[in-house]
Amino acid sequence: QPLRVNVPLNQGRDYDIRIGRGLLDEIGIEARDLGARAAGIVTDETVAGLYGERVQASLEAAGLRCGMITVPPGEASKSYAEFARVSDGLLSHKIERGDLVVALGGGVVGDLAGFAAASLRRGVRFVQAPTTLLAQVDSSVGGKTGINSPLGKNLIGAFHQPRLVLADTATLDTLSEREMRAGYAEVAKYGLIGDAEFFEWCETNWSGIFAGGPERDEAVAACCRAKAGVVVRDEREDGERALLNLGHTFGHALERLTGYDSARLVHGEGVAIGLALAFRFSARLGLCGGQDAGRVANHLALAGLPTRLQQVPGGVGDPDALLDAMAQDKKVRDGRLTFILAHGIGQSFIAPDIDRAEVRAFLEDEL
Ligand code: NAD
Ligand code: ZN
Repeated sequence: QPLRVNVPLNQGRDYDIRIGRGLLDEIGIEARDLGARAAGIVTDETVAGLYGERVQASLEAAGLRCGMITVPPGEASKSYAEFARVSDGLLSHKIERGDLVVALGGGVVGDLAGFAAASLRRGVRFVQAPTTLLAQVDSSVGGKTGINSPLGKNLIGAFHQPRLVLADTATLDTLSEREMRAGYAEVAKYGLIGDAEFFEWCETNWSGIFAGGPERDEAVAACCRAKAGVVVRDEREDGERALLNLGHTFGHALERLTGYDSARLVHGEGVAIGLALAFRFSARLGLCGGQDAGRVANHLALAGLPTRLQQVPGGVGDPDALLDAMAQDKKVRDGRLTFILAHGIGQSFIAPDIDRAEVRAFLEDEL
């Protein structure tokens, strides 16, 4: 029995996230129910090889005309060049306003295909079929789409909500251990942000999520519910949605310092270190107990994630290099930084006024 999370949007619109094993085979029926006559599948080479034919077969069996556009796997595909290729590909497959763009893959494909859908003919409908844990619990929900500019990550984009998210959790069986763990950092994050009970559940059930038991579906649903709740209350990110960045101020800085080289560090690994740092920093400031910080690091380490700066391959330099990398991410006013900190597990908050010198002293001890 697949799980379902409904996401209400403004002006009475809404969409469903369906979660379960084997759902990819139902994508044709779902697309037909949405009234589409054609579908343009956007995917990457790896995912195309694994699931492309199945998705195409399901759509064609439901009577839809189908085209497929494939990009190379990896972050480099969130580029102007691939955006142009995908858009022209969709046009050549005669995808009209009432048709569907189907994003089949991880966050890279979701962001790229979603942005192509947002701008093609000033907006065509799209369906997310996320195939990484990160995409199922994070990037496929919330309507942010976009590509990278040579001047920075995710700087070109649009808000474009999907009509449906179809998270086939069986597709995660073929995901690498490393990508699975990286996605798991985001799962744990939801507990740490605002749901201590969910974090505790993760401490007991995490291995079932990795093994593909019913816990996996339950965890994906819980994360989607949490993210959808935040997004609904703050669709355009001017308040509460910032909490989703717990662990990301440090994490983004680490990604920047490692040159976005996935051989050294993937996003979720940066987030795991960032989560551990955010809690240790909170404890140091007397905001939460040291035992909370210990519990966070222990759990992430148990799931095979790094929790210390020393674990970044090749090192991250000195505290000032880290601070500079962080300042690029956040608005710095008079040497003060905004962080997401915590009063405890499940009790995060926005701390807009942290002294740079305080962060520096903390990083010195951490290094
Ligand atoms: P990804 O899309 O690059 O996928 C990771 C790797 O896994 C790729 O090599 C891919 O080919 C492979 N893969 C995907 N599904 C597979 C499967 N089922 N089996 C085997 N291999 C599979 O990376 P990601 O971590 O999913 O997404 C990262 C991107 O998401 C970043 O660009 C980030 O900016 C974006 N993101 C967007 C949002 C948002 O709100 N829009 C939120 C978070 C992250
Ligand atoms: Zn993230």
